[in-house]
Amino acid sequence: MKELLQYRTEEEVKIANAVFENIRISLEQAVYLYEHSDSIFCAWLANNVKEGKFGKKVFYNKNIHIEVSNICINKCKFCSFYRKKGDEGAWEMDICEIMDILAEKNIDEITEIHITGGLHPEKKLSFYIELFKEIKAKYPKIHLKAFTAVEIEYFAKSDKLSFEEILKILKTSGLNSLAGGGAEILDDKIREKLCPKKTKSQVWLDIHNIAHSLGIRTNSTMLYGHIENYSDRVFHMQQLRELQDKTGGFNCFIPLKYKSFGNSLEITTEISLSEELKNYAIARLFLDNIPHIKAYWPMCGKETAILALSFGADDFDGTIGNSTKIYSMAGSVSKPELSEDQIKELLSEAGFKAVERNSDYEIL
Ligand code: SF4
Repeated sequence: MKELLQYRTEEEVKIANAVFENIRISLEQAVYLYEHSDSIFCAWLANNVKEGKFGKKVFYNKNIHIEVSNICINKCKFCSFYRKKGDEGAWEMDICEIMDILAEKNIDEITEIHITGGLHPEKKLSFYIELFKEIKAKYPKIHLKAFTAVEIEYFAKSDKLSFEEILKILKTSGLNSLAGGGAEILDDKIREKLCPKKTKSQVWLDIHNIAHSLGIRTNSTMLYGHIENYSDRVFHMQQLRELQDKTGGFNCFIPLKYKSFGNSLEITTEISLSEELKNYAIARLFLDNIPHIKAYWPMCGKETAILALSFGADDFDGTIGNSTKIYSMAGSVSKPELSEDQIKELLSEAGFKAVERNSDYEIL
């Protein structure tokens, strides 16, 4: 190891020693990696950590998304997905339509349905309770991952209930886990510019805290590469790391690179591939208590996702079945769909062992 570190700075040597001795890196050290280290150094460290945990295993699942509606009252500036009611390209589904879509899919072959969408002015808690009950009555074994903290806050306000009450009702109706979206950058000054109407940082964290206390596991995300700086990214991850120390309820962390197409943020440049990969690596190093780092291929593309697996990521997400438009509307992969065999082949060609998991990361 000494030879590998001979051309590195004193601070990089300190960071490498900490990583190899399983000592948590500090906020300042993570910022140092962003500002001064190259992506290959970060990849070397992150990959050592990842391989220590999982060897060459890469996790995937068989899943579909249901995007109930893209009509949303929040109008976040970075969002390419939302429409106003009546706009061209706006859609909304009723329960019959959703059940018809599910009937057309081979649900017995998948393990997870991920339900998401905009904050529709009429689709509130009662709609989703009925939907979840119907889905679970017909497909009792399926894992229902649904909503972000943003919807939970929306339902709480409209039904005048606490977050805990909303989560308990949803859990009783069939909700198994929460997605990790809506976190963006957990800093209200940044949120004010990106998504002024959206859930505030502390509320996002509180809702995940309550979900974890009720046995509802969740994911976590970071939308980066827009107006934030490196310290903002690390501060964001620091808040996730602190909550995870307390609850242990996050399954995974998903870095989501800002995509510039089709939104009103007026940032037209996107960060480079090198920075995107380095970001995976730093997430793996800093978030030492979140077990899985996901390279979400419908967002970053198959090729980048495969590269990210050598930069600390261990999860590839799933088959998807051409069921999500959130990132294709922002200029990412259009009609995302991979068969299980295609995933296995892609991962094996890149030197990894594809391992099917369920939504709780149990190996199937
Ligand atoms: S990011 Fe979510 S909450 Fe914001 S406008 Fe888009 S769909 Fe609505």
